Order: sequence, then C-alpha cells, then structure tokens
Amino acid sequence: MVDKQFFDIIVIGGGPGGYPAAIRAAQNGKSVALIEAKDLGGTCLNRGCIPSKTLIANADVLKRVMEAEEFGIVVGQVSFDFSKMVERKDRIVAGIRKSLGGLLQSNGITIFQGFGKITSPNTVKITGKDNAILKAGKIILATGSEPRNMKAFPFDYVRIHDSTSMLENKELPKSLAIIGGGVIGCEFASLYSALGVDVTVIEMMPSILPTESQSVSSFLTKVYKKNGIKIQASTMVQAIEKGSENVTVKLANGESIMADIALVAVGRSLNVTGLGLEEIGVKLTRDGLIDVNDKMETTVPGIYAIGDIASKWWLAHVASHQGLVAAQNACGISARMHYNAIPCVTYTDPEIASVGYSLEEAIKQGYDATIGAFPFQALGKSQAAFQSEGFAQVVISKSTKQILGAQVVGHEASTLIAEMAVAIANELTIESITETVHAHPTLAEVWLEAALMASETPLHLPPKKKKKE
Ligand SMILES: Cc1cc2nc3c(=O)[nH]c(=O)nc-3n(C[C@H](O)[C@H](O)[C@H](O)COP(=O)(O)OP(=O)(O)OC[C@H]3O[C@@H](n4cnc5c(N)ncnc54)[C@H](O)[C@@H]3O)c2cc1C
Repeated sequence: MVDKQFFDIIVIGGGPGGYPAAIRAAQNGKSVALIEAKDLGGTCLNRGCIPSKTLIANADVLKRVMEAEEFGIVVGQVSFDFSKMVERKDRIVAGIRKSLGGLLQSNGITIFQGFGKITSPNTVKITGKDNAILKAGKIILATGSEPRNMKAFPFDYVRIHDSTSMLENKELPKSLAIIGGGVIGCEFASLYSALGVDVTVIEMMPSILPTESQSVSSFLTKVYKKNGIKIQASTMVQAIEKGSENVTVKLANGESIMADIALVAVGRSLNVTGLGLEEIGVKLTRDGLIDVNDKMETTVPGIYAIGDIASKWWLAHVASHQGLVAAQNACGISARMHYNAIPCVTYTDPEIASVGYSLEEAIKQGYDATIGAFPFQALGKSQAAFQSEGFAQVVISKSTKQILGAQVVGHEASTLIAEMAVAIANELTIESITETVHAHPTLAEVWLEAALMASETPLHLPPKKKKKE
C-alpha cells in the first residue's frame, strides 16, 4: 500500500463530472489524483450517452436507406446484422475510453484504479487494483449513479434488463416491454421499433416524457402511434414474471402484457454509500442527493460534490459544467452554477430538445408568456432533405420580449437547441433572433421563423386572422 501521497485535489469518480474537474484543476496548476473504480468515462461513455447514441445512429442509417426510393435511389432488399451494430458500439466506446486515458495523462493527472473512500476531510483510502492512502488539499466527489434495483423486478439481465444490460444485449427480440416512458425508456423504444421490434411502453404518469411540455409529449405520442409503438399511460406495473421464453408484465389494472424481454427504465440509485460521507458529516438532502450550494460545496469545507449525486438534472453536460465550477472553487477561483439555460435532449425519432421554460412553466412562474411556433414542413431545407416532421417554438415574455424557453421536435433538434441555449443564458430578447441573419436553406431558420411568429410578423406562414370587431 502506497502511504499518504499528497495531492492538491483528489477527484473520486472518472465520469463526465469527475474528469473535466480533474482537467480544470490541473490547468490551474494543481497536483491532481483521479480515482476510478470501473472505467474512465463513467456511465455516460460506457453505459449511457455514447453507447445508446451509437446504436441509435445505426437505426438512423437504416431508416435513411429504407427512404432511399424517395431520392430516386434503388437499394434492393435491405437487411442488417444487429450483432455487428453492437460490435460497432463497443469499438467506438473503447476508442473514446482509450483517448480519454491519454488526455488525462497529458494533463499530468495521476489515475488510481480502485474504490475511493473518504476517511477524514483530507484523507482518501483506495482499495482495488491500486491500494493507497492519499492526503488531499480538497476533495471532489463525482461518483454518479447506477440503474435502480427494485424487488418487484427480478432482473436476470437476459429477459429482464436494466439500461446497462440492454446496451450489452446482442440479440434482437421480437417484442419488448419497456417499463418507464421517460427519456431512457423512450430512446430505447424509438431504437428498437426502428429495428422492427414490437414495442410497448408502460408509463405511470398520464403521458410519456412527462417532464417535457404538453405539446412536445403529445406530438411524440402521435408519432409513436403512427409508427406502431404501443403506449400504456397512467398505468402502474406491479410485477414482472419471467417464463422460459418470455416475460409477463403484470399491471395494477389487472391486465398483463407479454413480451420476449422487458426493459426496466425507472430511476437511478445514487452512488453515495460506502464513501464515508456520514462519518465526516457530509449531509444529504431529503431526496438522497448530496447537499451542495451553487459553488458545488458540500456541508463539509473543502469537499465538493458534482454530477448525478449532486442535482436532479442527471445529464452528462450538467455534470461536466458542475465539475468545472467545483474545480475553480477548489482552486480558489470563485465560480457559480446556474441552471436557467440547461439544454435537455431526448434522442427519440424525431429528436426532442428543450431549454428554459415551457409555456406552462413560464405562466406558472408568473410571466406574461406567449409562444411562437413554426413547423419544419414549411422550411425548404426540411423538404429538400425529406426531414419535415416536427416543429420548433419559442416562449417569450409579451412585455419584455425576453426569450424564456424553447422546444424543438424534429431532425437535428439536439444541435438546433444550442442557439436557444445561448440566447437564454445571455438573457436575449426575440429581436436578437429576428435581427440575426440565418443562412438559407438551413434547419436553423426554424428559430428565425418561430421568433417572427412570436412577434406576430410571420414570413412563411399566413398572418393570423384578425378577430371581427
Ligand atoms: C442509457 C443512458 C443514456 C444516457 N444518455 C444521456 C445523454 O444522451 N445525454 C446526457 O447528457 N446524459 C445521458 N445520460 C445520463 C448521464 O450518463 C449521466 O448523467 C452522467 O454520466 C453523470 O455523470 P457523473 O460524472 O455524475 O457520474 P457517472 O457517469 O455515473 O460516473 C461516476 C463514476 O464514478 C465511479 N465511482 C463510483 N463510486 C466510486 C468510488 N467510490 N471510487 C471510485 N470511483 C467511483 C463510477 O465507476 C463511475 O465511473 C444517460 C444515462 C443512461 C443510463
């Protein structure tokens, strides 16, 4: 055991929260140790964002090939090999993981492989491949989360999956029951349905994607129905029973759904146990998150927490930004976390993205809010590319014209939302969009058109009919 090596900053957890924090602390001239129990890149790279989006990219190509006739291209019989799609995903993840290790080393960060436990406010014990006791100036906790294990669902990771084992699954089932119609559940629903699987989504709340605005979630519901994805909303799942060939999902309303396999996509459990938090007095919130302020400081001076364990956003880019804020503060440079312009993306088909307030939320917050919406169907670029499903909308204050929120459903929504994130983060008004020249023909013109709609000066849609006096 290496004894009491000193580092200015010790980061526990090498996911999208931890590794940016380590890099920023190193850039600030500090000696940095990063402790990782499993794989560098955390959930996002190994069991989340990247593997899921790589598989989704396969489905996108397949869809595009099947649409080839629209473009006058003859491709003949189309088939695919799912196991090759999974292999491609593994190759991409492994490649990024390798580059990440090199990136951290190039920043002079010392990486320890093992489980980190805080034994005093400035001591961390590592057990695993590396065994060591380290002394720290400051500690940043970034231990993330895992799929929640629930008794009612006897996971065997063959017929009853969580998101992690589902990403490892190499065989395509004929039918899939997804418990949970949130972001992860809906992304898997779009993916598997595009690959020809008969998908049913069971959601406890009245609609799928319950955290999105009503217009967005009902649009996706319609698309799912059109594409044959079945939705059982306002439905509780009581249990899943496993047979030799299939699973039976027992619903609280007495009905049951049979499928080849089931995916449980309901919630995550936070990696906060065994870290020594209680012993040193790091407090948790009532929700079980680590209690932090906007500088990402915990209740114990010198200890910071970031990522899934520190807020309910559960997004990689939030974890990364929190990591930068924590590292700056740990290095004595004041920084604060703001949450008013966090882009949220759901990689369904079509993609969904939002930032800031929905119309309903803005009104609830007391704003005199109104909306301007524009369909992709009316954009030349969307028509040219045969990607005209969906719409974009901006939520603004009627009196100040400030942009309060934006939502977009459609092709490249994930990329398009960045313009609105910049606008909201910088408290811009609708004029900043209408006065910016947008290139033509592009999908980004959808924001210009939505902004013109909000200002009641539409360009490519007829004016609203005036009320008769
Ligand atoms: C299927 C799926 C798809 C997703 N897609 C997206 C997406 O498209 N976009 C997005 O923004 N977010 C997405 N997410 C969420 C995103 O992955 C997480 O919000 C993000 O990874 C959280 O980052 P983190 O650094 O807090 O934790 P994690 O990424 O969970 O990393 C924590 C790391 O800490 C390590 N660790 C834990 N305890 C210890 C310990 N005691 N000692 C040492 N190491 C430890 C873990 O092994 C892990 O590597 C997705 C999640 C899932 C499950």
